[in-house]
Amino acid sequence: MKVGVLGAGQLALMLAQASVGTNIKVIPIGHNISDKLELYCDPIYGDMNDSVLLEQFLAQVDVVTYETENVSIDLLKIISKTTQVLPGLNVLEIFQDRLSEKKYFERLDIPVATYHDISQPTDIDKASEHVGFPGILKTRRDGYDGKGQAIVNSKEELVAAWDTFKHIPCILEGFVSFSGEVSVIAVRSIDGNSIFYPITENHHRDGILRLSTKIGENDLQAVAEGYAQKIMADTNYVGCMAIEFFVVDSTLVANEVAPRVHNSGHWTIGGTDASQFANHLNAITGNALITPTALSAVAMINFISELPNPLALNVGAESLFHDYGKDNRPLRKVGHLTLLGDGMDTKEFYQLVVKTLNASGETALASDISEQAASIA
Ligand code: AMP
Repeated sequence: MKVGVLGAGQLALMLAQASVGTNIKVIPIGHNISDKLELYCDPIYGDMNDSVLLEQFLAQVDVVTYETENVSIDLLKIISKTTQVLPGLNVLEIFQDRLSEKKYFERLDIPVATYHDISQPTDIDKASEHVGFPGILKTRRDGYDGKGQAIVNSKEELVAAWDTFKHIPCILEGFVSFSGEVSVIAVRSIDGNSIFYPITENHHRDGILRLSTKIGENDLQAVAEGYAQKIMADTNYVGCMAIEFFVVDSTLVANEVAPRVHNSGHWTIGGTDASQFANHLNAITGNALITPTALSAVAMINFISELPNPLALNVGAESLFHDYGKDNRPLRKVGHLTLLGDGMDTKEFYQLVVKTLNASGETALASDISEQAASIA
């Protein structure tokens, strides 16, 4: 079975790596940004909106998936005329737009932060009153890794931030004082079976994920799974999905859904016996899902802007170093490291995470994690 992937970045790369040794062939289409991709598949390089390239792509694939939700619905409609797109268009239509996403969460009784849409100047007053400050102005579409977001502390700052965004449709979201952030990754098959990965705790800086940890079990697992199950059943979802949450007073407040494989699930390569990438491919090709068994403790550290020298990290066989084969660029994700703590006691594993964060330049985060570890011990 041949799986077309819209996009040729690191998620397409990891899908292609997961296909090695299976009867699935992955064919990404997109701009050439990773010199590793060709080691695992035969990508089609260029603009996926180019009709000649698109035709060449569609002639080769049985099903199409995507590595980013920021793909054009019009393009997907063209593709759907001949080829099945999974997860389906209905899913992208909801989660591509932060306003429809928030409304959707509310419809399913999933808690969300206070918000108000801002599409015309008169919305500024209404949003300021309804949401209050501090808040976060977010563009409704095309935001990722903290892009298209501005923290605003007053109506004047809101006006200035919306001016900077050139008055494109936005939402103002209340600033959530969370005690932590978590995400759950779920996969649903064509015949409606679902599997879930253990929740990860996520740590962001500048809106970009820096660290995900899965250490022991999380009390919020069942609640997160319940929300994921509700969304997947309601949308007749097929494939892998991540839901990111804020933790507030030991409850979950939904932030966003990524209708695809997700950065906070990279640890499932090596940290489980069936990664999110393998199960996403299983789901969309009609294969049975594999219920994953996870190691007791796993952590993933993202490398942003540039890759460290692997030797300088001073880690051994308990680690997996991933180089996405991309050029260095400010705030770009260029690789990650997974730390596998099987058999280690929790304290020992935290020490390893802190040491590795320090070695990779994430010193502020290292001290946060050290404090967290001290409070647990
Ligand atoms: P997003 O692109 O919406 O996932 O936001 C990226 C990161 O910014 C989140 O993971 C949080 O760390 C932070 N963030 C986003 N929205 C809020 C909010 N309403 N309150 C507090 N922090 C937020």
